[in-house]
Amino acid sequence: MSHGALLTIDLKALQSNWQSLAKLAHPAECAACVKANAYGIGLEQAVAALVKAGCKTFFVAHESEARKMPPAEDGIRTFVLNGVPEEPNGYEQAFAVIGSFHDIRQTKRFAANDRRQINVALHFNIGMNRLGFHPDDIEVVKTELGPLNPILIMGHFSSSEDRASSATELEIEIFARIRAAFPDVPASLANSSGHFLHPIPKYQLTRPGYALYGGNPTPHLPNLMKPVVSLSAPIIQIRQIEPGETVGYNSLWTAKRPTILATCSVGYADGLPRSARGTDLAAGGAGFVADIRCPMIGGISMDLTVFDVTDVPEALQIEGTMVEILGPHQSIDDLAASANTIGYEILTRLGHRYTRIYLEAGSGVL
Ligand SMILES: *Cc1c(COP(=O)(O)O)cnc(C)c1O
Repeated sequence: MSHGALLTIDLKALQSNWQSLAKLAHPAECAACVKANAYGIGLEQAVAALVKAGCKTFFVAHESEARKMPPAEDGIRTFVLNGVPEEPNGYEQAFAVIGSFHDIRQTKRFAANDRRQINVALHFNIGMNRLGFHPDDIEVVKTELGPLNPILIMGHFSSSEDRASSATELEIEIFARIRAAFPDVPASLANSSGHFLHPIPKYQLTRPGYALYGGNPTPHLPNLMKPVVSLSAPIIQIRQIEPGETVGYNSLWTAKRPTILATCSVGYADGLPRSARGTDLAAGGAGFVADIRCPMIGGISMDLTVFDVTDVPEALQIEGTMVEILGPHQSIDDLAASANTIGYEILTRLGHRYTRIYLEAGSGVL
């Protein structure tokens, strides 16, 4: 075995999460957002597993991601969220999600070249002010479409995971108005957290991402999703320091007792957030050995992180012991919280130097 860190991706858990969400979405279809390399876990592996579980519709951000999708002939369709592909044949593989008059003009150029109708999704801005047509422009959009044929109407929540926010209710209302203007076109609103609203804004298609990968879509409640990603790194050096000695660049952490340090070969270049570091002023994140919490101390370096393993059984205070960074003791949401970020960022920054182990997908219904 290499002495590198291990990133384990449980494709069966991914399938199970999709099936749980698909049950909630029923009778609507449940799609899957696989943008950003399927939130860091690997687009090709994730899509193959999701297709086996029954998923047929996918959302990616860019045309380059759409090109990695299985061909449309397999009954799989892909929507490209960030607009119009550079090349007309992008449409053979995927449908553009368009949300501006610029997008309409760009897409129509391809229609002129091909002399045919082009299927698109229309994205309306319901509150994020990021992408999408203004709801007041519905009628102009309709007259401008010409050869563009809407096969999906979309909106996107700004804060559906936040029970305290009043935005969601308003966004649901705005989207209902938009949908009423396109009564015959399938619609899609819910992201992961949208599956846990009451009532669920199902429409015809839901678009979960984060929850598929084990993120908690209901942060105020225990996570109903199965963890997909686990990460552990081996200890490559052990040392003992005395009270008053410091650890890492700029001496940010000072020992208050005789302390056993474990240095692991994983760092911010592998996606560990630097903000998870423990200093004399703030606690920071941790790893786990044999159920014992081992604080990350003294800063996270590019390729190395130091853990305080003083409280770990002595037999495990040795080179080669694996320190759990993501796993049963620490979820992606936990690690994110200790680094003052969100689990989405933890996932999408997972590095490329890990030994990646894919636990095999099941075939069909689990
Ligand atoms: C990323 C994304 C989603 C999925 O959101 P999650 O919170 O990850 O479930 C859905 N719709 C759009 C437009 C997105 O960009």
